[in-house]
Amino acid sequence: MNLAKLDNEVLENLALWLGIPVKRLKVLGEVIPDIEENHYHGFLDCQVVSWREGQVRRLTHKIVKFLREHNRYYILDSIKKIRQLRRKKLVEINHCRFTELDMTLRRKLSLPPIDWRGNQAVVCLSHDLDCVEDYEFSREVYDLNRKYNIRSTFNFLTHWGYQPESAWLKELDSNGFEIGLHGYTHDIAIGIRPAQRIIKELSLALEKLNFSVKGYRAPAFAVTPRLLKSLKELGIKYDSSMKTVSCYGQAVETFYPYRYPGIGIWEIPLTIQDDRVFRDLYLSDEEGLGVIKELTQRVVNIGGVMVINNHPRLIKERFYYYEELLKWIAALDNVWICTMSDVIEFMEEREHRIIHLKEDSCIKTTR
Ligand SMILES: [Zn+2]
Repeated sequence: MNLAKLDNEVLENLALWLGIPVKRLKVLGEVIPDIEENHYHGFLDCQVVSWREGQVRRLTHKIVKFLREHNRYYILDSIKKIRQLRRKKLVEINHCRFTELDMTLRRKLSLPPIDWRGNQAVVCLSHDLDCVEDYEFSREVYDLNRKYNIRSTFNFLTHWGYQPESAWLKELDSNGFEIGLHGYTHDIAIGIRPAQRIIKELSLALEKLNFSVKGYRAPAFAVTPRLLKSLKELGIKYDSSMKTVSCYGQAVETFYPYRYPGIGIWEIPLTIQDDRVFRDLYLSDEEGLGVIKELTQRVVNIGGVMVINNHPRLIKERFYYYEELLKWIAALDNVWICTMSDVIEFMEEREHRIIHLKEDSCIKTTR
């Protein structure tokens, strides 16, 4: 594989991860002999939603909109369970394509791993508040996170069964937690709506939150380039709806944040969420905890960003799992536990430094 033949935006992200100017990468020539450049083509992009999948998402949203709150989630969860029946295995993170390339290049160029504010890796926790049960239990989750000194990101809906109270948002913010956006409604077809509708709904949602919101996660990961462009237009800095690894559909196969090709908004890929281990794999608290700890340890070992999404309504049912997870995360050595917007701030500083490096020299490296 010749690096100079990679898509320019893939190359730019690679340079950002490595901490060197793009020019230095381009002159490297063959890196991994058996792999073609197109092995990396389009892998940081989101998948195209098929016409059929789009119709199913539209129709499902139309139906659940008219259901009572409790029934909405019963139906949505049941549909997801049926979809997951054939997909029992969690994917290994070893040999993820960008991890492999990043490691090969670091070795070749003798570059140090990313220094995450003095730490070897990052862990971010987030909570998507999908319904009134999630909203109502968010305070307990917040209290528990504070007990372990862990600041997380709460992603709110604004017109779907609960009203985010401004006093609550202020309290979260003033204690270092992050207010993120999950949507106007929990529209699992949001990514394929006309751009005008996306902008209109998300503007109304932002207006309602009336807060400086930097991040977004799409309901049911319904992310598309159209949606990402709209987010950029609305001043959102990052999205976190793509998956790092997946045993079905697309995964970006990197554990670092990156600039989305052609759009420029940041993406912080989601590593795992509680649904996956409990709803889809039917694991017990202990087993689910074991899987998430194992995955986190692997991401820490490669120096990446581990993003774990836990829904408050599931935490309520699995309090033991969640508290044990917090205890374990808080005790990790050399790990930066922070919000996703902290990670973006870090990436922007890093990017800024590398742009200045370009002007100085193409030989020097940076951390
Ligand atoms: Zn959701």
